[in-house]
Amino acid sequence: MSEHVKKNLWRVLLAVGTAAVVLLLGIWAVSLIRQERQAIQTDGGKQLAAAAQRMDTIAIEAVLDPDGKAMQVSQQLTLTLRTEEPRQELALRTWPNAFLKPDTSPIAGNGDCCPDGFSAGSLVMAQAQVEQNGQTTDALYRYTDEEKTLLSIPLAESWQPGETLQVNLRYTVNFPHAMYRFGWWGDTFMAGHAFAVPALWQDGAYRADSWLPIGDPLSGECANYTLRLTAPKDYVCAAGGSITGVARTGDSVTYTIEAQAVRDLGLVISRDLKKVTRQSGDILLEALAADQATARRMLDTAEASLAAYSERFGVYPWPVYSVCGLPLGVSGAEYTALSMVAADQEGERLEYAVAHETAHQWWYGLVGSDCATHPWMDEALCEYSLLCYVQDRYGDRAREELRQTRIEPAMRITVAGQATPGAPLDYFETATDYAVLVYGRAAALLCAADELLGGRMNDALKHYAQQHAFGIADREDLPRAVLESTGEDIEPLMVDYLDTYLLN
Ligand SMILES: [Zn+2]
Repeated sequence: MSEHVKKNLWRVLLAVGTAAVVLLLGIWAVSLIRQERQAIQTDGGKQLAAAAQRMDTIAIEAVLDPDGKAMQVSQQLTLTLRTEEPRQELALRTWPNAFLKPDTSPIAGNGDCCPDGFSAGSLVMAQAQVEQNGQTTDALYRYTDEEKTLLSIPLAESWQPGETLQVNLRYTVNFPHAMYRFGWWGDTFMAGHAFAVPALWQDGAYRADSWLPIGDPLSGECANYTLRLTAPKDYVCAAGGSITGVARTGDSVTYTIEAQAVRDLGLVISRDLKKVTRQSGDILLEALAADQATARRMLDTAEASLAAYSERFGVYPWPVYSVCGLPLGVSGAEYTALSMVAADQEGERLEYAVAHETAHQWWYGLVGSDCATHPWMDEALCEYSLLCYVQDRYGDRAREELRQTRIEPAMRITVAGQATPGAPLDYFETATDYAVLVYGRAAALLCAADELLGGRMNDALKHYAQQHAFGIADREDLPRAVLESTGEDIEPLMVDYLDTYLLN
């Protein structure tokens, strides 16, 4: 090799080497930027630990009987009276009983959820005991509503502010054959709202709302749950909490699940589904789906949407988040730290369903609201949040396109009947009207507010989330938070969008 050729070879090698180093540096820098953009904001569990200290505890032992389509439950509720006035009775919600009869079931006549026709579900109480002032007594409980979803337990002595009492229950949960948040299909059990929970106390009385065919059942106060679930050994489960123990004995498996400061305990138990997990910073992400590829796609959306929302609205406080692709006749259903989505949705529809349900972690899970009186407060905020996810993942233009195709058309559709976007659940006659008004037009309000505030709506929502974290916000709390955060009054805009009939 001549000196000339050698020199040229060295030059070429040097150039190739330099280019390779530059390229690697570039890839590293881009991955750093991506990592920074995609990180889910957390606080190491500080907020959660502080909130959990002032909450009641609910300990549940449940044994799934897949053949009987039932769960045997024993449950202990340790409840402290946190309001000023004493109470003479304690009330629990037993939501599965809404499914007892065709005329009260929220899905009777819904062919998407019940393709095989009506099937009954129930919560059959065997025993309720109350421990108060060292005395344990069998409670003379009775149902005070037609659906048997409001169980009243009279107390031997009045329950004083600050006093803690304990309720021990034994009951059977019977699942309806339904593709719904509460139901069984194939070898999958959707155990949403399956357990007895304290009824919501408001303005001196227990709320007695029914589980209506449109919208969500009334939720309650956050509490700390422990669940020990026993099922045949080939069943996996996801709940809105951390699995802290797995014990296998013979043909069965017992999962121990701890869920702090959750508004409810969503639960899915299945032999059909595969579980895929991923650690993202402090958060354990789990997906249940029919196949691993779908589970991983759902995890991607869950992770990116948690990142987008936590950056704007404040940290994701729970240590785990599960998203379950299920046989559902509705698009999705939200529980704290757990979302259910219909598995038969594909591509963009599945992605948006996961991103919408994930937004409920802030607008439902963290900040509760009265979903019977102001359903828009959850749903519209989630539709608005979805725009933020799309913006982060696909850019400003994609966000604007989604706003124009998903939210804007709702302003031009004629809706008959008496409902406005701000109306209570029982004003809505059809699911379509509900979607147009509560998801569409109320989300348009938030876009309009963001425009009025010059892009500061997310800051205002972060302030709103901080103020009402783990609590329940009322309608006026949102404009108040906006006013405090930005100095702008959006109340007139809210009246315009939420309380005014739109004549097309
Ligand atoms: Zn929703």
